[in-house]
Order: sequence, then C-alpha cells, then structure tokens
Amino acid sequence: MSSPRIEVDLEKVRKNTRTLARRLNVQGMTVTAVSKAVCGDPMIAQAMIDGGAAGLAEARLSNVRRLRAAGLTCAITLIRTPLLSQAAEVVRLCDASYNTESVIIAALAAAALGEDRVHDIILMVEMGDLREGVMPEDLSALAQRVMDMPGVALKGIGANFACLSGVAPNASQMRALSALANDTEALCGPFLQTVSGGNSASLPWAFGKTARGRINDLRVGEAILLGVDPVSGDQIGGLYRDAFALFAEVIETDEKPTRSQPCLIETGYAKPRLVSNIAPETRVILAMGLQDTDIHRLSMPAGYTLVGATSDHLVISTARAAPRVGSELKFHMNYSALMRAAAAPDGDIVAHIRRPPSDNTRDPSAPRHLAMV
Ligand SMILES: *Cc1c(COP(=O)(O)O)cnc(C)c1O
Repeated sequence: MSSPRIEVDLEKVRKNTRTLARRLNVQGMTVTAVSKAVCGDPMIAQAMIDGGAAGLAEARLSNVRRLRAAGLTCAITLIRTPLLSQAAEVVRLCDASYNTESVIIAALAAAALGEDRVHDIILMVEMGDLREGVMPEDLSALAQRVMDMPGVALKGIGANFACLSGVAPNASQMRALSALANDTEALCGPFLQTVSGGNSASLPWAFGKTARGRINDLRVGEAILLGVDPVSGDQIGGLYRDAFALFAEVIETDEKPTRSQPCLIETGYAKPRLVSNIAPETRVILAMGLQDTDIHRLSMPAGYTLVGATSDHLVISTARAAPRVGSELKFHMNYSALMRAAAAPDGDIVAHIRRPPSDNTRDPSAPRHLAMV
C-alpha cells in the first residue's frame, strides 16, 4: 500500500453532485463539474457525471488527456485559457474552452478548421476577482472577433469569483454579468447558450432569493468533492463532507522528551542546575510529509496534535497509547490538502465503490426500464 493514500467514496461524490444538480436545475442552472483538484481522476469524474453534471471542466490539458484515455466521452470544457502551444490538442480533446486572448482564439480557430471541426468559445469577463477575464467594456469587441472567425463559435460568457480575491460574488455582480450577456447578444447577434456564473463560491448566491437573470451554469469542484462553501468553509446543507480521507502509515512510535533542549531550573537553595525536561508523550512518525500534501490544512485524528513536518516525515503526538507500527491513521483534508495530495507522486487514489445491492443505481425519480428476459 502506498502512504499516504487517498480514499474516496464515489457514492458520496455522486450524491453530492446529484444534490447540487437538483437544487440548481430547478433554478434553471446546470452544474459543470470541475475535476482538476483530483487531477482528472476518471472514476471520480464519472461519479460526477452519474450524479447529473452537465459536463466536466478541467484546467489542465494533461488531465483532459487522462479523462479521454479512460474513455469518457462527455463534454469537457477547458476552464483555464488554452496554452497557445497546445491549441491543436485542445481542439481535438475539448468541446469548448474559456478564453480571453484573441491570438489564442485565432490559433484554436485555425486548428479547428484544419480538423474540420467547430470549437466552442466561452469568453471570460473580469468581474472583480482580478484573475482572468477581459474587462467588461472590451467584451463586445472580442465577441465580434470570435463571430468573424470561422472554426470557432461563440457559445457564451462566464466570470470567476473568489479565487484570487477570496471575496464571494454579490447579487449586483451577478446582475452585471447577466446584463453583459444581453448586451453581447444585442451587439453581436448570436444567442449565448451558456452564461456561467462562477465556481462553488457562487452557490450561496444561487441558493438565495435574488433573480438568476441569464446565469444558467455554475462550474463546481470543491462543493462536490468536499461539501463546503470555499469562502466561509461552512458545510453546504445536504452534502457529505467526508467523501475523501487521507491515510498515512505509522513508521515509528516513541516516548520522546517534549523538548530536546535541556532546561534550566532554579532550586531556590543551591546553584541552578540542568535537568532534562522529560514529560512523557508518545510521538508518532508517519510516512507523509510536505511533499505529499498541505500538512497544515489537514485535520489531525482525534487525540493527536501536530508537532511538525519535513519533506517526507510527519510528527504528531498523543497522550494516548501508541498506535502500532504499520497501522494507519486517517486525516481529513481541506481543498488545498486534497489537491496537493492528489497531485503528489505517491498520491494514489483508491475508490470505495459502495453500492448496496438494494440501492443499485436506483433513483426514485429516474424512469425505470423494463428488461426482456
Ligand atoms: C477551479 C475553478 C473552478 C472550480 O472552483 P471550485 O471552487 O472548486 O468550485 C471554476 N472555474 C474556474 C475558472 C476555475 O479555475
């Protein structure tokens, strides 16, 4: 077994997607599931699709390659602007991409023409996060350029929030994005099929009472995987927070002095003397380190405290009996710990496929099919 090892309960990923998709579908919005935090793991991506995601979104072409190699044929959108050097492969592997640069869109168009395809373009607009996006006043000119290029089609617009700034979108930013969709249509002509209103940080807005306007899609990763709102860190009602866990193997247990430095004591009578400060506590060393995950974003198992970590060792302490060498301890990860663990060289993801026979794929609202016997 590798250490550390990520375990995922695919059923919880599927149910989280289903819960979000149902809540957003009734509001006229789809969920595009973002698989980048788990490096495009095909089983997890499939669980998202099975849960009702309208398609997948990925930031890196390497993850898209992995999804396609595993046989996933669903719509995949590249949500990070394509690299100019990868334009031809983007057109071959992705149905659509988010874009901000006309030189890159022109390369996509040329590649698509060569392959006798049409690649869909969603233009990213800057709405306050100050990461990617064209300024709202420049949107219609860029949209017009896309319209004029054969090989690409203008599919929609989108915005991103709360990534660089950490600030959740408010109703007025969402209204502004909606208005931009209407303005772009009025100026450039085509109906915009997709108006994508951001990531997991937009869910509180989506569940709120303000009008949805033209926004009809959200790109959701963290909330599906970890069940939380990324801005507040709070659990989203009805979602599982424990679809993922990180296991690491114990490689040493010992009682060690709490401080390695001897300490000076004042006796009151004689001269001060040096004694070793030995307050017994069990130190546990695990085969996991800074190279494997964001150690400071892990929750320690109950009864353990973090002492420190180096590239390959994690030291924790406990007042309890020592765990056995060779046994494993379980850690809960936040988003940053999960994405680093999934990308680490030893970060194997092991899936639990827990489908009780009575619950098979049965969804009470799904149409039932009759089988010929
Ligand atoms: C990562 C990313 C998302 C998904 O963000 P979550 O917070 O995981 O939901 C959506 N859109 C873009 C552009 C992203 O880069």
